[in-house]
Amino acid sequence: MQVSRRVILLGSTGSIGQSTLDVLRHMRDLPELEFELVGLGAGTRGDELLKQAKEFGVRDISLADAEVASGLQFDGTLHAGAGSARDLVESIARPGDLVVAAIVGSAGIDAVMAAIDAGCDIALANKETLVAAGSIVMPRAAERGVHLIPVDSEHNAIYQCLRGCDSDKEIRRIVITASGGPFRGMDQETVRNATPEEALAHPTWDMGQKISIDSASMMNKALEVIEAHWLFGLSSDRIEVIVHPQSIVHSFVEYVDGSVLAQMGPPDMKTPIQYAMTWPHRMEGCSDRMDWESLQSLVFEQLDHDVFPPVKMAHEVIERGGTAGAVFNAANEVAVEAFLNRQILFGGIHDLVREALDGIPAQEVHSLADIEGADAAARALVRERIGELMNRPATMGENK
Ligand code: NDP
Ligand code: MG
Repeated sequence: MQVSRRVILLGSTGSIGQSTLDVLRHMRDLPELEFELVGLGAGTRGDELLKQAKEFGVRDISLADAEVASGLQFDGTLHAGAGSARDLVESIARPGDLVVAAIVGSAGIDAVMAAIDAGCDIALANKETLVAAGSIVMPRAAERGVHLIPVDSEHNAIYQCLRGCDSDKEIRRIVITASGGPFRGMDQETVRNATPEEALAHPTWDMGQKISIDSASMMNKALEVIEAHWLFGLSSDRIEVIVHPQSIVHSFVEYVDGSVLAQMGPPDMKTPIQYAMTWPHRMEGCSDRMDWESLQSLVFEQLDHDVFPPVKMAHEVIERGGTAGAVFNAANEVAVEAFLNRQILFGGIHDLVREALDGIPAQEVHSLADIEGADAAARALVRERIGELMNRPATMGENK
C-alpha cells in the first residue's frame, strides 16, 4: 500500500515541531510513504525555520515575529506577522492535505480553523485550541468532513483504544494518566513556592516551557480533561485522571462490559505524532521500544486534589460550558508567563485562574469572536491582578 500526502507543519521550531521533523526524516526511508513537506510555520526562531526549509526544500513559510522576519533572506514565500500561520495555510493548503498543528497556546486557533476550512485533516498537538474553541472547532470539522487526530499522547492513546468502537454508548469512561510531574508527593506549601527551574524539570517528558509548567501545576491534565471532552464527546463525569509516574500506560478506555483497553509504550512523542500522521495506517516506527526485561511493575496512584486542584476546575469548566474554557485557558497562559518571569509564585497560577473563572461569567458561544472576547477579558483581568500583586509588599501571589 502506497500513502502519499502533502504536509504543512505549524510550530516547526518547537518540541513537537522538531519531533515531527524527525518522524518525517524517518519516513524518507519507508518506500511505502511519500510525505511531502510543503509549508513550515514558526513564532520567533527565524534562522532555525530557514534551516528547516532548506533541508526539506520547502518554498512557503511563516514567522509570527514580523521584525525577525524582516531580517530574513528567503528564496520563496515568507508570510510574516501575527496571522502569518493562517495566511500560510490559506495560501497553500489543498483538500486532503495534513496540517500538523503544533503552535503553543490560543495563538494556534485561527490557523487550525483555516486548515479545517481548506478541507485538511489535522494532527492536533495544540490542545489549547480545543480547550478554548472546541464548541466551534469540532462542529466545523464534522461539517467539512475532516479528521482531527490527536497528537497529545493521552488522547492519541484513547483514539487508538477506540478503534472499532462505533458508539459512545459502548464506553463507560476514559481514564487519562498523569505522570504527576516534578512535584508529585510534595506538600502544598513546598509546591506553592516552587521556582521556575524546579517546575521545568519534568521527570519523564522533554517538552516546551509552557507545557512543562502546566504539567507541574497539573493544569496540563486539566486542559487534557477538557480536550478529551471535546474530542470524544464525553460528559465530565465520564473522564477521570489517575497518576502513573512511569508514563508507560498513556491512557485507558473502560467499556460498558467491563473490558479496559490501554495503549502503552515508552514516553516518546514520536510514536503518537507518527500515528496521527499515518492514521488510519500503522507504519514502522522510529521511537525506542518497550524494554520488557527491565519492566518490573506499573505504578498507579490517586491524584491529590488538595495539592493539585486544577483537574477539579476542569470538570467545573466543562459543566459551565460556553466561554468558560477560553477564560480558563487564557488566564493560565498569562499566569504561566508571569511565573516564568518571576512575577508571581507557582501557587499564584492557580489563584489567578480561579479569579478569572469566578470574575468572568461564561457566555454562550455563537462565533469565534465570542471566544476571542472571553480570551481578551481573561488576559486583561489576570494582567491587572498581576500588576496589583507586584505593586504590593510581599503578598501571597508575589515571587520576590
Ligand atoms: P514549544 O514551546 O516547544 O513550541 C511552540 C511552537 O509554537 C514553536 O515553534 C514556536 O515558535 C511556535 N509559536 C509560538 N507562538 C507562536 C505564534 N504566536 N504564532 C506562530 N507560532 C508560534 O511547545 P511544544 O512543542 O512543547 O508544544 C506545542 C503544542 O503541543 C502545545 O499546545 C502543547 O500543549 C502541545 N503538546 C506538546 C507536547 C510535548 O511533548 N511537547 C505533548 C503534548 C501536547 P518559536 O519557537 O520559533 O518562537
Ligand atoms: Mg499529554
